[in-house]
Amino acid sequence: MKYDIIFLGGGQAGIFGAYEAVEKNSQLKVLVIDKGRMLKNRVCPKETLGKCVNCPTCAIIYGVSGAGAFSDSKFNMDYKVGGDVHTVTGKEVVNQTIKDVVSVYRKFGFNEEPSGLKYNTKMEEIKRRCIEHGIQLVDTPTMHLGTDGSRKLYTMLVDYLLEKNVTFVTEREVEELIIEDGKIKGAKVSYKGQMEEYYADNVVLGMGRSGAHKVMDLCHKHGVNYQNGAIDIGVRVEIPDIIMKDINENFYEAKMIYYTKTYNDKMRTFCSNPSGFIAAEKHAEDVILANGHAYKDKKSTNTNLSLLCTKTFTKPFDKPFEYATAIANLSSMLTGGKLLLQSYGDLKLGKRSTDEKLERLNIVPTTTDYVAGDISLACPKRILDNIMEFIEAHDKITPGFASADLLLYFPEIKFRSTRMEIDKNMMTNIEGLYAAGDSSGYGSGLNIAAVMGMLAVRHILTKY
Ligand SMILES: Cc1cc2nc3c(=O)[nH]c(=O)nc-3n(C[C@H](O)[C@H](O)[C@H](O)COP(=O)(O)OP(=O)(O)OC[C@H]3O[C@@H](n4cnc5c(N)ncnc54)[C@H](O)[C@@H]3O)c2cc1C
Repeated sequence: MKYDIIFLGGGQAGIFGAYEAVEKNSQLKVLVIDKGRMLKNRVCPKETLGKCVNCPTCAIIYGVSGAGAFSDSKFNMDYKVGGDVHTVTGKEVVNQTIKDVVSVYRKFGFNEEPSGLKYNTKMEEIKRRCIEHGIQLVDTPTMHLGTDGSRKLYTMLVDYLLEKNVTFVTEREVEELIIEDGKIKGAKVSYKGQMEEYYADNVVLGMGRSGAHKVMDLCHKHGVNYQNGAIDIGVRVEIPDIIMKDINENFYEAKMIYYTKTYNDKMRTFCSNPSGFIAAEKHAEDVILANGHAYKDKKSTNTNLSLLCTKTFTKPFDKPFEYATAIANLSSMLTGGKLLLQSYGDLKLGKRSTDEKLERLNIVPTTTDYVAGDISLACPKRILDNIMEFIEAHDKITPGFASADLLLYFPEIKFRSTRMEIDKNMMTNIEGLYAAGDSSGYGSGLNIAAVMGMLAVRHILTKY
């Protein structure tokens, strides 16, 4: 059977694209292909066993609704956060489409009002300190759904798509694109050792960070134009809530950008989870990455957030993905497939952390998926220097941040190494092939992935 649109990847970009398609033209035959399972069948064994058992396809990362399904769902309502597709489309288009995405959230029961719109005196004080210490505070209105809230919302959205006859084929891995005379014709997909072919003249490639490497291979192999993009490497830190109280209570999340004095490299905070939990995620064999969650109903007494260094490489080096993977492999070699944890106190002293030394701290880790050790054995010096400088700068805004009790979980990596060449309709140089979301190299958040999925579909709709 030939479809009108195929979404390769049923994450945020895929399901919002599929929604836009069937909502605007109910006659369209829409197919979503995903490597993971349907949302309802995405069950992480950790929930019952209490620890990560390294499933071949991680249910947290892969599956319908994508990384967003289990994410804390802080939805940023401005083009400035979540990606930079506005460099292709213009700011107005992105902000208008974000409003359209929000109206879909509202339709499925997400009624929370955004925070961060009006400054009180505490927020003004935080902003003043940022200005004083050379940190840019990116303040955009944000809605917060929470991990369990987002799961409910995506369940309703996927059920709606099924009602509207969107076809989902899951546990299928995209292996090849089918391209004839510069036009997309479909994709080849592996399923239980067999190859299957699916056909359409419009294909939206949205395989997220988890599929970014595959997307780079596909581009390389099929002549889809792309450039090497940046890679984000850093740590996820955990600190008692009381240290973060002013930021948590007033901003929920304060996005900070800092250019280090030593190297002039860009550091940023990302995905802060007040009263949250650390998660170890398996992205591939020996690629175990730190992440964080916050739940509406389940709370810890720690805040976690990531401190990321954005690294762009210059010619002739063209393997940023492999570089970041090698760092993750090294860390995994030291820990036997867990996160590497060190307290900031031990890092500053140049000493490894041990379980015994961690017990002397005021903070209790919210995960057991770690080995206490020495981050400097796996993290390149330049990146580690940047992280430490940023921690000290953050301490000026949040006194107590650079304390011995700050826990550093290594590595946290955001793979965005391919930046596909797209036009304002998200179309690549291959006719009918569109790119959306994190794997396009233009997205890093829920908002921009959904926007790109919708914009691609709006162009496809003009053909029908
Ligand atoms: C723990 C966590 C917390 C986050 N918190 C936030 C937040 O609060 N706010 C925010 O804005 N963003 C957050 N993000 C980022 C956000 O989830 C992503 O930016 C967003 O999901 C990107 O959407 P996407 O459609 O591009 O990719 P994804 O949602 O990752 O979806 C990609 C899909 O492609 C599938 N796939 C991958 N490879 C293949 C293949 N070879 N074949 C077939 N299918 C494949 C995957 O199974 C997946 O379903 C978080 C991410 C994580 C992991």
